[in-house]
Amino acid sequence: MHADEEHAVSQVRRNARDMAKTKTQAQVEYRKTLEEKLAETLDTYSRDRAAGAENTDDGIQDLADKAASAYAKELNFSLSDSDRATLVHVEEAIGRLDSGSFGACTNCGIRIGDKRLRAIPWTPFCIDCAELAENGMLVD
Ligand SMILES: [Zn+2]
Repeated sequence: MHADEEHAVSQVRRNARDMAKTKTQAQVEYRKTLEEKLAETLDTYSRDRAAGAENTDDGIQDLADKAASAYAKELNFSLSDSDRATLVHVEEAIGRLDSGSFGACTNCGIRIGDKRLRAIPWTPFCIDCAELAENGMLVD
């Protein structure tokens, strides 16, 4: 191989590597934002739960079982609908980061704009599909 060609090839490889690195860096930041959002939402819930526990502490029987079922029950009831929906979206988005599909609209598959992802990194939809979803035109 000619020296110039070799140089060109390694240049392409280097660019590809830099691109992969940039993507990883962005994903690290998205993951951080998502995990903070998750902690923040769960934090609100924990505080509500602690406040509720003071009123319902009525004994010691099967405390662990009770706590486990109460946790699931209270998670359903003490989070507002929008918090619960956000929580699910955040967890799904973290799952997409793990599987490598993060950033693609879960409905139509196109890449979600960076601006939109930075604003709401847990969104499953591109702007067009989000609009359809809001109008009830997407089957979940
Ligand atoms: Zn879409």
